[in-house]
Amino acid sequence: MSRFLSTEAACLAPYTPGEQPTDAQYIKLNTNESPFSPSPRVVKALSRAEVLKLNLYSDPTCGVLTDAIAARYGLRRENVLAANGSDEVLAFAFRAFCGQGRGVAYADITYGFYKAQSALFGLEATVVPLREDFTLRVEDYLNFPGTVVIANPNAPTGIALPRTDIQRLVESNPDRVVIVDEAYVDFGAESCVPMILRYENLLVTQTMSKSRSLAGGRVGFALGSPELISALNRVKYSFNPYNVNRLSLIAGAAAMEDEDYFRDSIAAIEKNRAWTTRELEALGFTVLPSSANFILAKSDRMSGETLYRTLKENGILVRWWADQPRIRDYIRVTIGSAEQMAALVDEIARLLDM
Ligand code: PMP
Repeated sequence: MSRFLSTEAACLAPYTPGEQPTDAQYIKLNTNESPFSPSPRVVKALSRAEVLKLNLYSDPTCGVLTDAIAARYGLRRENVLAANGSDEVLAFAFRAFCGQGRGVAYADITYGFYKAQSALFGLEATVVPLREDFTLRVEDYLNFPGTVVIANPNAPTGIALPRTDIQRLVESNPDRVVIVDEAYVDFGAESCVPMILRYENLLVTQTMSKSRSLAGGRVGFALGSPELISALNRVKYSFNPYNVNRLSLIAGAAAMEDEDYFRDSIAAIEKNRAWTTRELEALGFTVLPSSANFILAKSDRMSGETLYRTLKENGILVRWWADQPRIRDYIRVTIGSAEQMAALVDEIARLLDM
């Protein structure tokens, strides 16, 4: 470790992002992006005139984007904060809310970024194991005297909680914030957004990286009471006032306004998810029930590591975690286009036959 590292930085637990190869040699099913290009409205909105305005700073209030998001969800601007991906939203929320009481509680297994953020902000973290079947027991979090973070659907399991469970959690401690990370909610789970006007302690985070095909545009957002949103703005304006760049503001607003494209993309992913699940089960896989744009699956004949490595050698990238004992036998597969899924299933069938 470098001698220049501060004591705080030496204590970090950095998150390792999924592989992002810069050439096109792989069928890329490892980081839950959409296989579809952004909406044609996004392409149209990113005109030369907009590029020529890049000499000017972007709007720190993210006006066009927050208005488009607010309109889509029947909310007001005061209920919305936009950010450079929902990772940034989560960072602002961890900074703003998780230092109170007993720090933060989250599941094992869940999105790895929560652990990284907890270390970054020096928070006490209560890590609660999932049940044997990978479902989350909401009772484990009721009355927790700190902030609770729940990914719904969870990642990388894909399993969703009903809205009523989150409601019990939010009601169990009105003085503590509950953060519901809905990065994958559009693929079949129940969103808690309709609850935010009722509960001042509920913060919902979402992203345009998955269901709106904008992972590279880095647009995420939080929805919550004006009290929570203004707390997030305190952090944002202390950290990076121009957090969403000009092109992403416009791209995000255009993507948010194309409801038909959004619905069609989701319908295609849900169809491909059902197909892939059936095909893998026919090949002897156990597939967890997913409400997300990915599945976590385990073969009865080949280890997760072998599957990951041999698929990669054959041009298909999936995700596998060497450092997660409970899911070492599993691979996580992003649901892509019908052609990509057919190529994956063919390749797996071939490997199992050898
Ligand atoms: N939450 C969860 C559960 C995720 O899996 C991801 C994507 N890796 C994110 C948040 C962050 O996504 P983004 O920063 O692209 O919005």
